[in-house]
Amino acid sequence: MAEYDENNIFAKILKGEIPCDKVYEDDYVLAFNDIAPLKPVHILVIPKGAYVSIDDFGTNASLEETQAFFAAIAKIVEQKGIAETGFRCIANTGADGGQEVPHFHMHILGGAPVGRMVAG
Ligand code: 5GP
Repeated sequence: MAEYDENNIFAKILKGEIPCDKVYEDDYVLAFNDIAPLKPVHILVIPKGAYVSIDDFGTNASLEETQAFFAAIAKIVEQKGIAETGFRCIANTGADGGQEVPHFHMHILGGAPVGRMVAG
């Protein structure tokens, strides 16, 4: 598992060094709009803890962090009105997964049909 890079862009957002368009925040989680949205709703949900990837999070996060993370997703999709219409959560991971930012994040995509599960 890769080592956490304290200077990745989402770490800078968490430290307040870079602004974000905040959607949700609690003690464990921050969520904000993706800077380059691919659907009408495109939100990134991140834990406040320093986790590189979903497997790092799944292995090392506390029960409180894990519970808060998924509860936040549920609150956000309800708040955005896409719980009924549907949405997709994506956690790109590592090189083959196409992960660009090495701080675990879940994309929430919705507000329009998201298409096939995997392109190509
Ligand atoms: P990944 O490819 O790592 O799963 O996704 C990274 C996502 O972060 C991309 O969808 C990209 O548009 C988004 N992103 C990159 N830099 C920033 C930023 O500074 N602010 C916000 N809000 N999103 C960003």
